[in-house]
Amino acid sequence: MLKVEHIGIAVHNLAEANAVFARLLGAEPYKTESVVSEGVRTAFFRIGETKIELLEATHPDSPVARFLGRKGEGMHHIAYEVADIGTEMQRLRAEGFVLLNETPKRGADNKLVCFLHPKSTNGVLIELCQEIR
Ligand code: ZN
Repeated sequence: MLKVEHIGIAVHNLAEANAVFARLLGAEPYKTESVVSEGVRTAFFRIGETKIELLEATHPDSPVARFLGRKGEGMHHIAYEVADIGTEMQRLRAEGFVLLNETPKRGADNKLVCFLHPKSTNGVLIELCQEIR
């Protein structure tokens, strides 16, 4: 793994959270994007080498809506950048981690992504991401 690419935070209202994080970080989000397949709308803030991703559910059955229902707002996932997502998925599967998707899928911010089930990572949802070149 190369670095922590971003930290995902689940929020009830993206516009309100954007305003909070803009005041907190002293910067506006550089991108807002919907990922229809995941049922989320996201906003990204850049802070030096890493980013903060705010996630708002776009329908009540989306994974982020279920997370908000169970746990409320807060840290949702840590995303690690990898050089080759296929190789990394194979390595982690062999190490016994539970992958939530069997093949890389298209995520926000021009990335191929794969999630690891939190039950195999001490309760933290992990995202692997690789820039689409
Ligand atoms: Zn993410």
